[in-house]
Amino acid sequence: MLNEGDPRSRCIRCNTCDGYPCLVNAKSDAHICAIEPALEYPNLTLLTDAFVSRLETSASGQEVTAVHVTRNGAEEKYAADIVAVSCGAINSAALLLRSANAKHPRGLANSSDTVGRHYMGHVNSVLLAVSKCPNPTVFQKTLGLNDFYFGSKEWEFPMGHISFVGKLDGVALSAGAPAIAPGFTLDLMAKHSLDFWLTSEDLPDPDNRVTLDRQGNIVLSYKPNNLEPHKRLQAKLQDLMKRQTKCDIHGHDCHQGLFARSLYLGERIPLAGVAHQNGTIRFGNDPKTSVLDANCRAHDVDNLYVVDGSFFVSSAAVNPALTIMANALRVGDHLLARMK
Ligand SMILES: Cc1cc2nc3c(=O)[nH]c(=O)nc-3n(C[C@H](O)[C@H](O)[C@H](O)COP(=O)(O)OP(=O)(O)OC[C@H]3O[C@@H](n4cnc5c(N)ncnc54)[C@H](O)[C@@H]3O)c2cc1C
Ligand code: SF4
Repeated sequence: MLNEGDPRSRCIRCNTCDGYPCLVNAKSDAHICAIEPALEYPNLTLLTDAFVSRLETSASGQEVTAVHVTRNGAEEKYAADIVAVSCGAINSAALLLRSANAKHPRGLANSSDTVGRHYMGHVNSVLLAVSKCPNPTVFQKTLGLNDFYFGSKEWEFPMGHISFVGKLDGVALSAGAPAIAPGFTLDLMAKHSLDFWLTSEDLPDPDNRVTLDRQGNIVLSYKPNNLEPHKRLQAKLQDLMKRQTKCDIHGHDCHQGLFARSLYLGERIPLAGVAHQNGTIRFGNDPKTSVLDANCRAHDVDNLYVVDGSFFVSSAAVNPALTIMANALRVGDHLLARMK
């Protein structure tokens, strides 16, 4: 919520935006833009510290009749005409699997046996181009590059998207624990780096999936795929950085990567990085191959919707949140029409 023309701008453009909460409530996030304004309506209640453990259905299995919740250590039960699950792609799938019953033996709404399958999370990496000159940018994340999204002269297949992460500092870098460039501390590296975020598409593989173990713990099985385009995208960026000549002070030598193999520090985000989770409760027209219909309503359960990153059938090579939001607005219109 930055207004550079207004000295009373709500956002004060501090240097701890990305990855930190905003202390002056000026970040356009779900809390500020959606939840807080929605709470002004008298017909909305937000329960916090509430864990949905299970959804119960009628004897026919065709509608959800109860939502079982653990809240502040107590068990509670809620009911509604329409139930929308939005726990994120891993936890929504886990909830449906946990809610198996006699009519839904493989998990709620899982006659297609696709709940939990086709997990995707992108092939992502952070690539630091360390230069002799410092990078004083605060909001580098506003830049993005799609020139190689669909391929390049050397590689005719889609490679993905190049953008930036929010400007890293030494503390943020230490969490990613990259190798330290010779002559640099982590802090110095952060001050002298362009911090690229590279995204390539991972493909929907039914064996990449969320399951539950005997104790009910979530198990995420994932075999990375479509890695070659990502390697090509990394190589393309390295090549472009090496070819830069524009620095007035150091000229061609400004970018340290010109010298050595190890100064471009590319590291793929590991499995535990589930930020871009999607695809586990896919939508589609065919109930045999999808869980949800085009309105994100379960084919098997009339009053059950899943509205989050689960519905994706492909992950594309861009960050997922805007698509998730756009779909939620679309499904919201459908629900309004249904309730009339
Ligand atoms: C550090 C980080 C940075 C990111 N940066 C970007 C970015 O720059 N751009 C972008 O597009 N995307 C970004 N993402 C991804 C984006 O945040 C997600 O794609 C998006 O928030 C997913 O939305 P969702 O509705 O599917 O699930 P979520 O936003 O994860 O919402 C799920 C909610 O359900 C709750 N929940 C889960 N299980 C239960 C349960 N059993 N009972 C009750 N509640 C439950 C969770 O607490 C959570 O509040 C980032 C993610 C992370 C983690
Ligand atoms: S955290 Fe972000 S939104 Fe908040 S003041 Fe700082 S720059 Fe602005």
